[in-house]
Amino acid sequence: MRASEQLSSLPTARSLYMKAKKLLSNNIKSNCNTHLQTLTVQCKFADSAKLEDSCKTWNRLIAGFNPGQLSFLLRAASDTLPTAVNLRQWCIQSDIHCTLCAYSRPTTAHILGGCPVTLTQQRYTYRHDKVLYLLASWLVDIFVGFSSIQVYADIHGLRASEGPQGTVPSSLLFTPYRPDIVVYNSEASTVALLELTCPLDSEHHIQEARSRKQNKTEYLQLLSEFDRLQIPNYYETVEISVLGHYLPSGTHALKSFIDLTQPSIATKSNIRQTLDRAANTCITCSQQIFFSRNCSEWSP
Ligand SMILES: [Zn+2]
Repeated sequence: MRASEQLSSLPTARSLYMKAKKLLSNNIKSNCNTHLQTLTVQCKFADSAKLEDSCKTWNRLIAGFNPGQLSFLLRAASDTLPTAVNLRQWCIQSDIHCTLCAYSRPTTAHILGGCPVTLTQQRYTYRHDKVLYLLASWLVDIFVGFSSIQVYADIHGLRASEGPQGTVPSSLLFTPYRPDIVVYNSEASTVALLELTCPLDSEHHIQEARSRKQNKTEYLQLLSEFDRLQIPNYYETVEISVLGHYLPSGTHALKSFIDLTQPSIATKSNIRQTLDRAANTCITCSQQIFFSRNCSEWSP
């Protein structure tokens, strides 16, 4: 089969959109399980389908997706985006190396979360910080009426200090560590720390990221410092995958994080809406990262 014939046989964005809308509006698990048995790149879809079954993030966001976004998500989840690996498999392109780092198997996972040049050029940091800014801004808004509560985040304009950069107020503790978000209640003298990670789209990667961050030596040392100073502290992690999925434990984690400072100020519904907006931001940034995979310069 010639390349042009193979291209024309690929599903269009519109047909993928209609198919996904039907799948998601019914029951994605049962539909996907049936669907998976009939396709050739199906197994890779299983991780995202399993996540969607427990998170329902795409199901809630689908009404706001345009066909291009939904096509990107489905192709990313099934690894059928036009990566160099797939273009070679489809006999469209002979060079199989990553344009940025020359890796010999630039799959979707490599482009969205494993390319060292993408990492060095801070393209993943850009995505992380966009999501972080959304979460931090929301926390600033919900605590705005409490003069004793300060929200700091590891983003320009929201840090406790810029030279050296820090998110823990020096009046509280001198430390080189910069948790992504710090909420300090000077009246109750409590401090809550939050770390955000955007791992690959599978439950395994989300759990692995959570475990890695929760056991990170630097933060365990920081917590013991707060203990030594007898400052009640709390540390949580939130993981939003590169395709926007987050586990129900992420909602619980953020609620516990907020409740330490001001109990019941945010409902689970508020928190889920915020995490859904963060998920949408993450998806948009992943799209940008994918579309610029062949550009040596990064200009989001
Ligand atoms: Zn690469």
